[in-house]
Amino acid sequence: MFMIVTRFAPSPTGNLHIGGLRTALYCYLYARKNHGKFLLRIEDTDTERNSQAALDSILEAFEWTELEHDSPMWFQSKRLDIYKSYIQKLLDSKKAYYCYLTKEELESERQKTKNLKDFTRKYRDYEGAPIQGIPPVVRIKAPLSGDVTFIDGIKGKIVISASEIDDFVIARSDGTPTYNFVVAIDDALSEISDVIRGDDHVSNTPKQILIYEALGFKVPKFYHVPMICNEAGAKLSKRDGALSVLEYRDAGILKEALLNFLFRLGFSHGDQEIFSMKEMLEVFDPSEINNSASACNFSKLMWLNSHYIKQKSMKELLSLLKMDLEENKRTECLLEALKSRANTLNDFKLGIESILEKPRYDEKMDSKVSPLALASLPVVEDFDFQSLDSIKEALHNLKLDYKIGIFMQALRCALLGKPGGIDLGECLFILGKDESLERIKAYLESKK
Ligand code: GLU
Repeated sequence: MFMIVTRFAPSPTGNLHIGGLRTALYCYLYARKNHGKFLLRIEDTDTERNSQAALDSILEAFEWTELEHDSPMWFQSKRLDIYKSYIQKLLDSKKAYYCYLTKEELESERQKTKNLKDFTRKYRDYEGAPIQGIPPVVRIKAPLSGDVTFIDGIKGKIVISASEIDDFVIARSDGTPTYNFVVAIDDALSEISDVIRGDDHVSNTPKQILIYEALGFKVPKFYHVPMICNEAGAKLSKRDGALSVLEYRDAGILKEALLNFLFRLGFSHGDQEIFSMKEMLEVFDPSEINNSASACNFSKLMWLNSHYIKQKSMKELLSLLKMDLEENKRTECLLEALKSRANTLNDFKLGIESILEKPRYDEKMDSKVSPLALASLPVVEDFDFQSLDSIKEALHNLKLDYKIGIFMQALRCALLGKPGGIDLGECLFILGKDESLERIKAYLESKK
């Protein structure tokens, strides 16, 4: 039975960035919506540039986003024997050949001409004995005429003339396979039906197609996703927000917001901006991915993040914030009071700390506080702290011979140590009677 199988194939040479995560999301969605498979393949053959730290951070980012992949996870470094057996197959069927050109010969030819294609074919039909002392590379026999054509699901028909493709190397002189070779072999052996990847790989595709064809493998469909750029249309830099996925997490971005943001950055469905995972699965179709680079607008990410923060229950927020707070009415009031003010979880934490940590009273901040209001602050002792409503009622029923706003200003300074902030009734309820009275006392002391 035909099954949609997609894969995401990071090289563990650096962190997972948002462009990579977007590609992974598209691969994930297409596989899951079709009840297919989504594979994760670690392209770790470049031993000089690989690092365990990069691999760990890629896997951690995957775990965080919950884009679950199917097993097994493939590691190219563990499959060298398989690649070598396919190189041998191509040699045996004369679709590839040993090339004994030395580096020096290639270099001296390069001085003479830019077009090395014919020169590199010197051993294409060589039938002689192996040349002693020269460890050969293996080159594939690329077609000498005609075109390589494929239909890109996003970009449309792509035609590359054979004259643009040389007999490229598929195994180095030490026998190790090259990049395009292992990608094609792995995609074929894991029966990838749809290759969705960044369009920086579009020039590799004709070469990979030649490998498929030489080995009689079915060629998958290709979708080359345009890059993410900054608002000026240039390549994203760190300053523009080209951060790693885990840096977004650490900045207090919710995974729902980041995935929604990346989904929209390259895919539209009318003017809908907010997509749950269920909705993304419903509407996604790789052939409708935008065919032009997508400009990153980070204020949209902040907007989405605050939207998703507002949707969270107390339980969910407590587990996200990882703060030592009890699950009770007061905490619920605290979280509700701050929900609509926080763009990120980090803002949220700061907001909580600014209420729960004892204020430091600063002369400059409250120079305009009225002595009359200071004298009335102890009235809070008579408030009924049973519920938020009873506190609000007490505030409402206060009998003062001056304006309530003047009292509130003093109370705010006493409770929070600064002007502005959440509703004072809520603040009293969150802090509770003992803490509220303690703060009022400390504040009055500081005024003496
Ligand atoms: N390993 C490649 C990369 O990290 C991806 C190759 C592919 O998707 O075909 O860019």
